[in-house]
Amino acid sequence: MRELICITCPMGCHLVVDTDEHGEMKVTGNRCARGEHYAREEIFNPKRVVTFTCAALLPDGSVPGPGSDLPRRVPVRTTVAFPKEKIPELLGALRGITVRLPAVRGTVVLQKALGTEVDVIVARSIASK
Ligand code: SF4
Repeated sequence: MRELICITCPMGCHLVVDTDEHGEMKVTGNRCARGEHYAREEIFNPKRVVTFTCAALLPDGSVPGPGSDLPRRVPVRTTVAFPKEKIPELLGALRGITVRLPAVRGTVVLQKALGTEVDVIVARSIASK
């Protein structure tokens, strides 16, 4: 038996996942069908939206110095939830990515990350001066 909170909507139903006498997965506590879908996804294919920061570069390709009033990191995020098991590998890939300023929200910094259909994009626009 496993207990989950459905985060699909603000109702936050308390789900109980169990198997019936035939070994079939059974979900209770959900107020709608989306809760069962959420429970199945969470158990068999858990995903999370990933946020991170990538190193920023100035327009000339140099690194913002200590006296610079520009941020040294640019916030990025996945466009949708990403397979949880691959998150450590994704973070490793993002550590090697630099984003040149100005950074424009929505710009793709990593397309089809690790062979998935998920892109990583700039989460917030940052001017270059
Ligand atoms: S089961 Fe349905 S009503 Fe309950 S939290 Fe999930 S989506 Fe909302």
